[in-house]
Amino acid sequence: MAELGNPKNTIEVLQKYQFHFAKKFGQNFLIDTHVLDKIVRAAEITPEDYVLEIGPGIGTLTQYLCESAKHVFAVEIDDNLIPILQDTLSAYDNVTVIHNDVLKLDINKLVEEKCEGKRIKVVANLPYYITTPILMGLFESHVPMESVTVMVQKEVAQRMQALPGGKDYGALSLAVQFYAEPYIVANVPPNCFMPRPNVGSAVIRLTSHKKPVAVKNEKLMFDIIRASFNQRRKTLVNGLYNVGGLNKSKEELAAVLESIGLAANVRGETLTLEQFAALSDALSKSAN
Ligand code: SAM
Repeated sequence: MAELGNPKNTIEVLQKYQFHFAKKFGQNFLIDTHVLDKIVRAAEITPEDYVLEIGPGIGTLTQYLCESAKHVFAVEIDDNLIPILQDTLSAYDNVTVIHNDVLKLDINKLVEEKCEGKRIKVVANLPYYITTPILMGLFESHVPMESVTVMVQKEVAQRMQALPGGKDYGALSLAVQFYAEPYIVANVPPNCFMPRPNVGSAVIRLTSHKKPVAVKNEKLMFDIIRASFNQRRKTLVNGLYNVGGLNKSKEELAAVLESIGLAANVRGETLTLEQFAALSDALSKSAN
């Protein structure tokens, strides 16, 4: 039975070890059993699953994951939490605590060597200061993952799930949706954490696409996406004009847009992922 997840037991552990929160590591520990249950349910952990948890803290979510998964790999950067985790997780033999910076860890190697060729599930209450590098690092290095179920800042969850035309739609929406289907599971208020964060939070589940979005040149597509959103409220032609290496006049760019059914004065923030992929393919073709 998981024992952490309520304020009383959390405070007891913190006092026993005289633990002081490190702001620089984005430490906001979960103290609400309903939220913990919700995360584990949304992640659909089964006894066959290998789970990667990023930032176990004092092991609260880890205990819940150990109850459901085959094995949990929990990566924690803070030296002061390692002895605490040894204590709070001592009842479980299906957990490995890895003392490292998750951004420096070779996760592909870990999965290859320890997970019997299976795709993993990533579950975490993420440190908010590095949400984007962690998620993009996992996707861009093609870690074999079924899904990523994480607590993030509410605004970031909304940006990941946003669709064309809305104010939250941007390069992050497209980057995430290129690899996965996002679904916001729940909004979580600050009083579910200790200490309370200054922002609202949300649990989001990103389910990896079975079939990737087809595009010939991923890098070119993301250069185009970045350029389009750097130039918000300007036309796409103006944004594309600044993409290095395209070497096209505005008239030529307008013609490429029209060739894929887009108006010459279209704005980047209205394009779907599939339209960015088609545009990238048309531009790489016309460059040859
Ligand atoms: N999972 C715990 C919970 O829900 O109570 C703690 C979550 S807390 C928001 C984030 C955790 O990530 C902290 O334990 C922090 O020390 C850890 N962390 C911060 N930066 C990290 C990094 N670069 N690599 C690994 N862990 C990190």
